[in-house]
Amino acid sequence: MILNRYDGETPQEILESQGVTQQYAADLAEKVTAIQEELRVTEEILKERDRLLREIPECSAHGQCVPHAIQWVKERKAQAA
Ligand SMILES: [Zn+2]
Repeated sequence: MILNRYDGETPQEILESQGVTQQYAADLAEKVTAIQEELRVTEEILKERDRLLREIPECSAHGQCVPHAIQWVKERKAQAA
């Protein structure tokens, strides 16, 4: 993640050290924190998706492929019906 290069500093400390006003820094820091949380959740969802794709045969054209996975599941559901 891009903020890792500011080891140990909070987003607010980084902005203040660069001459940004305190209120603006606080607002931006809040947004950064919210975006970091969204990123964390997104990464978890991607990990779950990857776990799911590893459990089914790969697409012959693309390897781990969501459209192929959807088709694969549809076929299994049709067979089970
Ligand atoms: Zn594919």
